[in-house]
Amino acid sequence: MSIRGGLVLLAVAALLSGCARPAGTDVRPRHPLKAPPALAADLQADKTLIRAARLRAEQRRIAAARRWGLKQVPLTAPPAPVTKPRITTRHGFEVEGHEEEGLPPVFTTIPTEQKIVFLTIDDGAEKDPAFLRMMSELKIPYTAFLSDYLVKDDYGYFAKMRDAGIVLNNHTLHHPYLPALSYARQKREICGMQDVIEKHYGERPALFRPPYGNYNEDTLRAARSCGIRYAPIWNEEVYVDHWEYREWDQRIHPGDIVLSHFRGRKDWKGTMTDMVRRFLDKVTAEGYAVARLEDYL
Ligand SMILES: [Zn+2]
Repeated sequence: MSIRGGLVLLAVAALLSGCARPAGTDVRPRHPLKAPPALAADLQADKTLIRAARLRAEQRRIAAARRWGLKQVPLTAPPAPVTKPRITTRHGFEVEGHEEEGLPPVFTTIPTEQKIVFLTIDDGAEKDPAFLRMMSELKIPYTAFLSDYLVKDDYGYFAKMRDAGIVLNNHTLHHPYLPALSYARQKREICGMQDVIEKHYGERPALFRPPYGNYNEDTLRAARSCGIRYAPIWNEEVYVDHWEYREWDQRIHPGDIVLSHFRGRKDWKGTMTDMVRRFLDKVTAEGYAVARLEDYL
């Protein structure tokens, strides 16, 4: 609604409240819920403008989907939930004292009945400008988990990502198998990456993903001491040429977290945009929209 439209509603509300009514006189308008004709025309004009803007945005998305070679236009995610779901550690993924000590929950799925999935992209080796363009043009949200040894040759690439509204999260300094390390060394890997992200991108992450999805109690205690609140892992992984599933049913489910990687032709048979195409074509065909993980945490 425009400012003018808002003022019109305020004016109508003031009339209805009758706050300036002299005692003993009834000045309530005869049709209290109807704005006067000139104002009603303004409201109508506002609605028409909003509809036209929505239509233009939709046309841009259709054009972008065609340009990037998608089979269908991706579905739009529902608005962020007003009440956040309660995130708990997936059964079987707990460490000793997990809940009692308030360690960051480890989960593969966000509890929701909505047909949404979350895309998370790890490591940071490939820095493909076409990927940034594709995601911005299609307006697909995702969450990045970065490892310093792979991103440090081009911090600027991920600054562009952050500027596009993507949250950059912690995936350690050197991508080690953490359970093999002492508490102190795990802490250096995790807190060190918090410092790198804060220095280059201005914020300390709340999300941490252990490399390979492997962790122990020390990992989560160290992560918590570095300011980490959540340790999302994943339920499916999408590659440039196939999907892999954690569940026996080999399907995607509402709220699933999907993993992929910043990889290019050196690592797999295609580009990042090929991977995104494979991801979007499947989730859209199955009636899922891609939502923003941070909106649910
Ligand atoms: Zn990784």
